Amino acid sequence: MPEPSEHSLATGRRFDTVLIANRGEIAARIQRACRELGLKTVAICSEADRQAPYINTADSFLCIGPSIAGKSYLNPDAILLAARLTGAGAIHPGYGFLSENAAFADAVEKAGLIFIGPPASSIAIMGDKIAAKRAMMAAGVPCVPGPDTALPDDPASVERIAFEIGYPVIVKAAGGGGGRGMRVVAKAEQLHEAIALTREEARKAFGSPSLYMEKFLQHPRHIEIQVICDDHGNAVWLGHRDCSMQRRHQKVVEEAPALGIAPEIIQPVGMACVEACRQIGYRGVGTFEFLYEVGAFYFIEMNTRLQVEHPVTEMTSGVDIVRAQIKAAEGQVLELTQDGVTCDGHSFECRINAEDPDTFLPSAGVITRLALPEGPGIRVDTHIDAGYKVSPYYDSLIAKLIVHAPTRAQAMARMCEALAGTEIEGIATNIPFLRALFEDHAFARGETDIHYLEQWLKLRRVA
Ligand code: ADP
Repeated sequence: MPEPSEHSLATGRRFDTVLIANRGEIAARIQRACRELGLKTVAICSEADRQAPYINTADSFLCIGPSIAGKSYLNPDAILLAARLTGAGAIHPGYGFLSENAAFADAVEKAGLIFIGPPASSIAIMGDKIAAKRAMMAAGVPCVPGPDTALPDDPASVERIAFEIGYPVIVKAAGGGGGRGMRVVAKAEQLHEAIALTREEARKAFGSPSLYMEKFLQHPRHIEIQVICDDHGNAVWLGHRDCSMQRRHQKVVEEAPALGIAPEIIQPVGMACVEACRQIGYRGVGTFEFLYEVGAFYFIEMNTRLQVEHPVTEMTSGVDIVRAQIKAAEGQVLELTQDGVTCDGHSFECRINAEDPDTFLPSAGVITRLALPEGPGIRVDTHIDAGYKVSPYYDSLIAKLIVHAPTRAQAMARMCEALAGTEIEGIATNIPFLRALFEDHAFARGETDIHYLEQWLKLRRVA
């Protein structure tokens, strides 16, 4: 266990230096929050990220490995060694990479450091979708119809379960993630083959053949609830976001609040999320993801980390979610109470990706010119500048364009303006595609579900 530094002894804080175990826009975002809190920062990078601007603005930095993520950002030993060498007292995992890896969270704590996230036990429960569903049902969170137990091997029992749920059903891997390891079954004749295929896939991809089954919802929206909890039993929810605009299960545009959700419908769901957090001893920030169909919410999973789309909730609630997350890890009492949470206006986020706007193939290269939009209600979270080299090794997200305005229509207009004012040369980006989307009438009216974007893209290709 490292000795507490002079600073932590003097201030009584649990740590004074945070190692940010991530890259890109979120590394820059976390660094800003740490500085505001008077914390020192350590940036880590792979060979490919040596020139990233946030490397120079950290108090110290270490290159921890080659460009390939498996040998750098996904290497727990290298990250822990970097923390030891730089005297960091806490590790912020960001999103992706090791952020939802219970073994990593455990290793960080065992090394005597603070993991800026929930306890490893909470990550483990939520990483097993059956355990997660069981915990949610126990806390009164509404779930998709279907048992909270693994599918048995016996064919007759499986048939009975599917019949009781009612077709179509979806077979999902307990250890699944990233939109993989699930299969829709439209009718009884397809059931056994679908189970055999998904089981084999689950065994190979997730190391566990455990499956479960639930009702397949045909036209849901994706709505999620942001929570923040401290170590003292306090927890609040910060309203909701709609992330239905997805391509291949990847979110492209997010907004807060979700349109047309009556307060009396969402209120009990938010309170149940908070109760679930208390029951599993959750700490820090997290997101409950739901499918929403015909006025009802159905829990699908909890993300036990900061999310890419957290800024839309920051814009509407006025709460700095990263700051709150770090303070929770410091053991501080939550500054907020549920009555103090108010959400105003409307916010959109567009994910600006380095990719071809038609084929969506990643586009690597040097950014030769960059102009970013400015003005009231416009925020850009990014790590790029002119001369930045977009590497082919990682996710193609290069910036997040976020707007806030009093109404949804005004926020849409502001996003159109912000997109028009964003000029990135040298690489291809999805900006033309986003501009077209923000001119779509059905999107403007909020007549969308999780399949809308894929269908819209198909129609565009034909036209
Ligand atoms: P992952 O962890 O792989 O992201 P999720 O359980 O969050 O898996 O599901 C990913 C996506 O699959 C959802 O956003 C939704 O589009 C679809 N999906 C999952 N469960 C259902 C369901 N019961 N009915 C309809 N669609 C579903």
